[in-house]
Amino acid sequence: MKNTDRARRIEALNTSRIEAINEHDLYRVGYLESALTPAWEVTRYTDAARTYEVMVDEYDWSCTCPACKRDSHCKHVEIVRLHVEAMNALEARADAFDQDAAHCLGTGKF
Ligand SMILES: [Zn+2]
Repeated sequence: MKNTDRARRIEALNTSRIEAINEHDLYRVGYLESALTPAWEVTRYTDAARTYEVMVDEYDWSCTCPACKRDSHCKHVEIVRLHVEAMNALEARADAFDQDAAHCLGTGKF
């Protein structure tokens, strides 16, 4: 990949990320248990017709929306990535909470 192509891709990904940060609370994200590869349904709260499926495989992220088909990236992928990051952070926090509770129970200290 040429440097100019790479720079354009990074700029496009950055634009999608900023859109996702600004709009992620407008969308509901649900993990699709039945999918063959990890996949999520992304639905705009105010317009259920705008529901898209975001998938990831060993090669890349993809989405069923028109923007992703046209440009190979979109805000829905970034919304899912923000969602996954938030879920991972919550799980880590829950684990730390349990460890703190066990420690406190064993020692009487926090
Ligand atoms: Zn999309």
